[in-house]
Amino acid sequence: MIIIAALIMPSFGYAETKRYEASFSDVFDTYSKIIVYADDKTTAQNAMQAAYDELKICHKNYDIYNDYEGVNNIKTINDNAGIAPVAVDARIIDLLLYSRDIYGLTGGRVNTAMGSVLRLWHEKRDEGLDAPENASLPDAEMLKSASEHTDFSNVIIDGQTSTVYLADAAMSLDVGAIAKGYAVERAAEALAENGISSALLSIGGNVRSIGVRGDGFPWQVSVQNPDLQASEQSLMTVGLTDGSLVSSGGYQRFYTVDGKNYHHIIDPDSLFPAESFDGVSIITHDSALADALSTSIFVMTLEEGRKLIDSLENTEALWVLKTGEIVTTDGFAKQN
Ligand code: AMP
Ligand code: MG
Repeated sequence: MIIIAALIMPSFGYAETKRYEASFSDVFDTYSKIIVYADDKTTAQNAMQAAYDELKICHKNYDIYNDYEGVNNIKTINDNAGIAPVAVDARIIDLLLYSRDIYGLTGGRVNTAMGSVLRLWHEKRDEGLDAPENASLPDAEMLKSASEHTDFSNVIIDGQTSTVYLADAAMSLDVGAIAKGYAVERAAEALAENGISSALLSIGGNVRSIGVRGDGFPWQVSVQNPDLQASEQSLMTVGLTDGSLVSSGGYQRFYTVDGKNYHHIIDPDSLFPAESFDGVSIITHDSALADALSTSIFVMTLEEGRKLIDSLENTEALWVLKTGEIVTTDGFAKQN
């Protein structure tokens, strides 16, 4: 982790604070940056270290591909499907209880128990990126039979004993839709607990702000244009005070088969990549909710998504339609 102290801020009635920055690339396989305003370097450094440590613990716990010494993670739970309950950290229990809420909220459209289906796509994507000339789609029959092992009620979460058991031996968890946002929320808590009241965390595009910037103005954050070829990489800039901005889109991870791109967000009905939008974004306070909702509205129709967003307080959304047209809830653009 690299820490840079920068300018002393002009005060505008605020106490004189300095801006500190840390960046790292070893959590959630992505580039991360933390900016804090603090009175002194020790406070900044301790807080950023605590946030980083929290992210690292979450990264290990929520990993579905790798084992870590002394850690029972999501992979351990998957490896023990149909065999035995696994004792896990409270971070996993909390995340899975939250996943269950999101499953209910989205009518099962976002289902972290869909690992069996997602794994088939993940394998084909890896193969296709390694050897593009041989890229192929998952077998339709295999997708269909995998989808018969995605029933969330077979995820037995026991908060009392802090264990998780998958009651279907052929099922597995994939928490990719929610875990990063959840971890970012915990990291923000770690900053706050360490005396920080002005910060911006950006963990692979999951953005969470605490308070306002050191100069007293809202943090300025740009909304990623899903068209990566466009000359303008930002669709717009929004002001975030104590809020989160999270985007989902097919542009983030995909591979190509016969000239067509296939991305990583899967419609649980078609078992194929969701096709309604190029990208979507959510603004809401809590980063876990923002992450969950951005995946949710990406796999819903515009009408379904709007209904969901309208039912939630202080939550705004943006959709980039396949035509390139941008649709937002009334409050989204007002954030800028
Ligand atoms: P995000 O980038 O937050 O929208 O999440 C995308 C990730 O969530 C994918 O890489 C998969 O790991 C996972 N995922 C994809 N489709 C679904 C789905 N319908 N329900 C739950 N998780 C999904
Ligand atoms: Mg998400």
